[in-house]
Amino acid sequence: MSAMTALPLQDLHDLTLAQQSQALNAGQTTSVALTQHALDRIAAHAALGAFLHVDADGALAAAAAADARRAAGQALGPLDGLPIAHKDIFVTQGLPTTAASKMLKGYQSPFDATVVAQLKTAGVVNVGKLNCDEFAMGGANENSAYAKARNPWDTSRIPGGSSGGSAVAVAARLVAATTGTDTGGSIRQPAALTGITGIKPTYGRCSRFGMIAFASSLDQAGPMARTAEDCALLLDAMSGFDARDATSAEQVRLHDGTLAANAPGVIGRELAALSLAAELADKARPLAGLRVGVPKEFFGEGVSADVLAATRAALAQLEALGATLVDVSLPRTELSIPVYYIIAPAEASSNLSRFDGVKFGHRAQKYSDLNDMYRKTRAEGFGPEVKRRIMIGAYVLSHGYYDAYYLQAQKLRRMIADDFQAAFKVCDVIAGPVSPTVARAIGSSTDPVQEYLADIFTLPASLAGLPGMSVPCGFGEHQLPVGLQLIGNYWQEAQLLHAAHAFQQATDWHQRQPTALA
Ligand code: GLN
Repeated sequence: MSAMTALPLQDLHDLTLAQQSQALNAGQTTSVALTQHALDRIAAHAALGAFLHVDADGALAAAAAADARRAAGQALGPLDGLPIAHKDIFVTQGLPTTAASKMLKGYQSPFDATVVAQLKTAGVVNVGKLNCDEFAMGGANENSAYAKARNPWDTSRIPGGSSGGSAVAVAARLVAATTGTDTGGSIRQPAALTGITGIKPTYGRCSRFGMIAFASSLDQAGPMARTAEDCALLLDAMSGFDARDATSAEQVRLHDGTLAANAPGVIGRELAALSLAAELADKARPLAGLRVGVPKEFFGEGVSADVLAATRAALAQLEALGATLVDVSLPRTELSIPVYYIIAPAEASSNLSRFDGVKFGHRAQKYSDLNDMYRKTRAEGFGPEVKRRIMIGAYVLSHGYYDAYYLQAQKLRRMIADDFQAAFKVCDVIAGPVSPTVARAIGSSTDPVQEYLADIFTLPASLAGLPGMSVPCGFGEHQLPVGLQLIGNYWQEAQLLHAAHAFQQATDWHQRQPTALA
């Protein structure tokens, strides 16, 4: 073992994916040891409600296979043998998949989602399935049919959602990284509220095949981890063209404008090019030349003072790293709420029609005829928020209301995307808050509309299909984490990850951890 690669041995759960990989290469630990440690920690912190299903036997077998590959001297990728977990929205062969709904209780998929399969190919060890809001509808993880997920910084508070379990598992260091999905903020908002890093890629970057559909024109998979570096490692492996997803992109435009095939490895190569450029330019000012757009609509009324202060301090930090701040405007930011809450439920009402008691999952026990079976199955299987969305969706799509709501929303969606393109004429990335407040108390919200309003800063990028990420940038009220949102132009994930990495080299917000769990 060389002194160059040897890490000072810390608790295994304190290692990031990159450090775990380094420790494996240096022979300091094994995949079985990492996996067993994760399983023990998951069991010790079961009260956090992060997991819906833990696959100890499968994980240990996969870890032993990874160790055997390593012992045999095979060339291994950087993720080989590292334990992670998947949001229970991704279907997984041989394991239950519920989407946190009673509707899919006991369901097992005959195949893996593409993202799950890609990560398996990269050698990762899947330790289980993570809690979330039912069918990914929500922002607090309170809509799970099975368990509340709790914020490790204060267990009386929400971790955000819908990828709440994914965020909790990383923030509590149960595993170093997880997958999530983001339709209107479900990776970025829980990442922000739990003090971790997460990226929602450009729509079309990651395959939606095997991701249980909520709103198909918005749904994207993405990684959640403690660092931008780890997010890059995962995203690199889980992205790429997939013929089984009709909206998967075949080609992506790189930051220098050239076109490349959307394949695993592209983001890594692009990042390498960016880091090299930064090193050649100026080490102390790695973001020299980066123009950061600051939309005035993201810093106005409705954002709490503590979130504003942390976000502004992060902007100053980006400036200190060489970036230039530019004022921009996203004038339809507020409209993104009604637009999203028309389009997403409309698509959901169509997508969820397949859960009828015939094809998948739950079927009512007692019924008089076929219609009664459908009615009872759906009444029993879906929770209240899912029913609300199906009803809104059916309404806005119905004859007589379609033009007034759905069609108008589609037109505005295009204008929201156009506003971003106007802004990107004068800046490279856009920065602002993720969530208007820090995490609220569990059970403290009874008004769905209030919940919808809190999505104001994540919805615009979702509607436009742009990549967005959340980076820990400080603490607000009650010592709760605050996230900085970075939004990039289409296919500019490497630029976002690069900026976030530079920020994390200069700050230690992403290294802070809830003391109660240390
Ligand atoms: N909170 C938003 C909603 O409830 C976003 C959910 C998501 O991104 N899956 O729809």
